[in-house]
Amino acid sequence: MNEPINYMPGIAENLNAVRARLDTAGRKHARNPESIRLVAVSKTFPGTAVREAYAAGQREFGENYVQEGVGKVTELADLPEIVWHFIGPLQSNKTRVVAEHFHWVHSVDRLKVAQRLSEQRPTDLPALNICLQVNVSGEESKSGLPPAEVAELAIAVAGLPNLHLRGLMCIPEPSQDETVLATRFGVLVTLQEALRQHGIVLDTLSMGMSGDMEQAVAAGSTLVRVGTAIFGGRAAKSAPPAA
Ligand SMILES: *Cc1c(COP(=O)(O)O)cnc(C)c1O
Repeated sequence: MNEPINYMPGIAENLNAVRARLDTAGRKHARNPESIRLVAVSKTFPGTAVREAYAAGQREFGENYVQEGVGKVTELADLPEIVWHFIGPLQSNKTRVVAEHFHWVHSVDRLKVAQRLSEQRPTDLPALNICLQVNVSGEESKSGLPPAEVAELAIAVAGLPNLHLRGLMCIPEPSQDETVLATRFGVLVTLQEALRQHGIVLDTLSMGMSGDMEQAVAAGSTLVRVGTAIFGGRAAKSAPPAA
């Protein structure tokens, strides 16, 4: 049974424009376009907006808030091949529903959260894909773990049974300065290389949003998380609508 799609003008066009931006940036930096995944960040937007993007060929979606995200995952369970990424801050008392509903979590920055996700991942589902969130901006950002602590957590997470450690994620402070962005994104590239020396091979660098996706692709991003450029502007994030 198909629900009617509530067509919102613009989402398909916006998606094409974002894909074109990624393509151009990828070409400029000799990147294989297939090595850059686009996650459409649908936080604060209704399920109808996700359906609209899905109808335009988008399959991967990102959510920031546990209750809202689980609501949309459940509501949209009829869409085959959809892939859900949890990208927001995650408290250890909210891990269970995330482990049960999402395919990826990008915001792991503590062992306790990782252990709970592994314990609570239903065994009939494939391993939960994990990125460790790194604070690449120092004082200016509160989320993520310091670069110096990444190797220890990565080694621990790689040993958890129901998780698949895929990569690293960062959210640099907003900046128009190419040098600043290159430095921030470069922290993840350096860490990825250092982890390889420890025998931990990561295939994902989750970096780049609406305002800095070109710079992220230039630095080596393999996954960009784009909201505003696809779905439009959001109301204040302190007041997400009920899912
Ligand atoms: C909201 C959000 C995004 C998308 O940001 P835009 O600037 O709207 O593209 C990406 N990643 C995270 C972690 C977010 O919270």
